[in-house]
Order: sequence, then C-alpha cells, then structure tokens
Amino acid sequence: MASKNQNYVVTGGAGFVGSHLVEALLGGGGSVTVIDDLSTGALANLRGVEGEPRLRLVTSKVTACRDLPEMVREADVVFHLAAAVGVEMAVNEPRRTIETNLDETEAVLRAASEAGVPVVITSSSEVYGKSQKEEFSESDDLLIGPPHLARWSYACSKLMDEFLALAYAKERGLPVTITRLFNTVGARQNGSYGMVLPRFIGAAREGRRLRVYGDGEQTRCFCHVSDTVEALIRLAQAPAARGEVFNIGGTEEVTIRCLAESVVRLLGSSSVVDLVPYDEAYAPGFEDMRRRRPSVEKLARVTGFRPQRTLEEIIRRTAEG
Ligand code: UDP
Repeated sequence: MASKNQNYVVTGGAGFVGSHLVEALLGGGGSVTVIDDLSTGALANLRGVEGEPRLRLVTSKVTACRDLPEMVREADVVFHLAAAVGVEMAVNEPRRTIETNLDETEAVLRAASEAGVPVVITSSSEVYGKSQKEEFSESDDLLIGPPHLARWSYACSKLMDEFLALAYAKERGLPVTITRLFNTVGARQNGSYGMVLPRFIGAAREGRRLRVYGDGEQTRCFCHVSDTVEALIRLAQAPAARGEVFNIGGTEEVTIRCLAESVVRLLGSSSVVDLVPYDEAYAPGFEDMRRRRPSVEKLARVTGFRPQRTLEEIIRRTAEG
C-alpha cells in the first residue's frame, strides 16, 4: 500500500505498468506527477484516474522536461519507468531503444542525486540474456548476445542503466533501488509491441489463429501487474532495498504452447493454435530465450512479499480488461 500525503514522480506513468502504479499510488492517498511523452504510453491508460486533483500529467520526454529538477526535489520517491518498449522495438529501432533507455535514465539519476531523493529504476529480465540457469538470481553472471543482433541492444542498454544507477549510489550516495521486471501482464498491455498474452487474448476473442513462435516449448513465468506494482511500492518503502537489485516476477512456469491452449480454453474460443517458425515471426537470426524464471527470494526477504496470482487468474483478469 502506498503512503498517504507522499509525493511521487512516475516517469512513463501513462504506459502499461506505469498507469497501474499511478492508480495504486493515488489509491493510497499520494500525489503523483506523471512525466510521459505518450510515444508508447497513452492518455487512455489513465482514464480511470482522470480528473483526480492529486494527479498531474506532464507530456514530455524526461530529457526535455525543463522542470524535472524541481519536480524531483518535491518528490518523496521517483519511479522511473519511461523506456523503450519490448524486444520488437529493439529489433526494429535499436538506435531509439539505446538512446531512450540510456538518456532518460541518466536524466532521472542526475536530478535525483542532486535532490537526494530515492529512486526506483525498472530494468528487465532481458539482462539475464541466454543464461541456461533454471532460476535467475540477481547476482548471476549474465550472458548477452553479440551486437550484430539488435535484439540485445535492449538488454545492454538496461544493464548500463543498472551500472549507472549503482555508480550514482556509490559515488554520490544516491538511494537507488533497481528492479528487474520479468514478463508482466494485465489489462491495458498493448499487443502491438510484441507481448504474447495480449496478442493471444485478442486472437482468441476474434476467432483468429494464435501464432506460437518456434516449437512452443519455450517457457515463461507471467506476473500480474497488480503484483508487480505491489512489489515496486514495497521496495520503494524498504531502506534495506537501497543500492540493491531485485527480480520481480511470477514463478509459475508455462510453455508458450500451453499458454496459448489455456487462453483458448479459458475464453471458450474456437481459435486454432498454430506454430510459426521464428524466421517468419522475427528477422532472421533472432534468438529467443528457452526459459526464464526468476528467483524472488531476495524480494520476499526484504519486503515480505512475493507475487501471488496463479496463471489462470492472470489470464482471466487480463481478458476481463
Ligand atoms: N511469442 C509468441 N507469439 C507472439 C508473441 C510472442 O509465440 O505473438 C513468444 C515469444 O517468441 C517468446 C514468448 O512468446 O518466446 C514471450 O514473448 P514476449 O514478447 O511476450 O516476451 P519476452 O520474449 O520478452 O519474454
């Protein structure tokens, strides 16, 4: 639960995860300034809190926001979620991905360190890259692919954000917490950025084929956005989380083929599940991850919280919108 009378800045607050975080912070009695350039975020995501006097929306890139130092100075916590969205964008627009992820984060870290305000940075499970481990832990070695495969620009730029954040913590005493978000799903997630669950739900609803890439035996663990937001807020409130990295994700592992079949079943759809070769789905040479499961022991130790929702509940809630 967010704290009453607290001031928050949420960059990327009109995005999918950001808008759920904004709702939770306002619901807890806080005031929120959203900075979002609405490039991939949308005002419609904030419709549920429209007209709320404790919400202020600044439509701008973080780097172009002249009042950023003042907004950050007035905040009790800054949540930095503004970023390039998804691996498809990294493949198609690597320059935009790298510049957005590096420049926006640097601007936030600089402003927060000048004001001495705590920051929560959102990184990504992508940084684990092609690691074959059964379960990913925050201090693992990372195995990222080569630079001629643009996909890895996303992971590398997020990893540089982490290095930069920890450098600010070390050299300037910035109270910063780094979170690695694993596959996060829920209402308002946009399938046009490649994310699998909204695509499957959209196809199942319309009776179209569900396109499962590769052999469909790759696995993921899905986390409902309400659990993600709860973890973010708890970490922001935990002094022991400062200067540390945390996984946030679900731990129920499912193959993508089984996910597709579950969506069809739970929605009572007549859609067919198709296997689509990777070369048809992505540019040639695309490397998908076979599996990806977080350890959330560190999160549980520091916050007493671990994501709770089952896959079935997650699919139902996401489909309800
Ligand atoms: N995927 C799929 N069909 C789609 C979109 C994605 O089979 O329409 C697969 C994708 O190849 C990956 C998994 O679903 O194995 C999760 O993809 P997503 O882009 O949601 O997340 P990430 O790859 O970052 O885990």
